[in-house]
Amino acid sequence: MEDFAEKPYAAQRMSGVQLVFKIINEMIRRILHLLFLPCSEATLLMEKRNAQSISPKENRMLSMHLMICKWCRMYNEKLALLDKVFKKKFSEEKTEINESEIQDFKNKMIDKLNF
Ligand SMILES: [Zn+2]
Repeated sequence: MEDFAEKPYAAQRMSGVQLVFKIINEMIRRILHLLFLPCSEATLLMEKRNAQSISPKENRMLSMHLMICKWCRMYNEKLALLDKVFKKKFSEEKTEINESEIQDFKNKMIDKLNF
């Protein structure tokens, strides 16, 4: 997930000072992305966290990334929402879910994600 497709600065009608702040902000954000975790890895960690679990270190990296990256925060919220919807649906239908089927599904997902 890259966010370079934002509106050009000129189109946003802001004063010179605001523009400088915005550019500095953007530069800091990109540097932090490089230091901590790129978006591609952050989204993978979110999926991994849902499918199995992630290490405390991975969790810290992901939390830091989510603090600085609004796109991944949005992705994270969507993921949480989907999770909630699925759980609600299953509980409403009182579907009998076999534990081994769930594990099987998780294993397939993990295989696909190459963990
Ligand atoms: Zn991100």
